[in-house]
Amino acid sequence: MSNKQTTTTTPCPSCQQPKGPGKYLCYPCWGNLPGLARRALSRRDSKAMARLQELRLQLAIGVPLAEIEVTP
Ligand SMILES: [Zn+2]
Repeated sequence: MSNKQTTTTTPCPSCQQPKGPGKYLCYPCWGNLPGLARRALSRRDSKAMARLQELRLQLAIGVPLAEIEVTP
């Protein structure tokens, strides 16, 4: 009965695969984001939450990963 579960980890919002804790997307999806979006999303400042919302919204309406844009 050693069923370890990390309940704090949510699946990747793009492909629903498991992703690392604290990450916005799984590794392959993250690699499909434009470099600019990746840089902005990697920054942990006062706008980090807003960028995550932008990412989530665009994924929800079906924007392809390669075309996602967030606040720089
Ligand atoms: Zn993914």
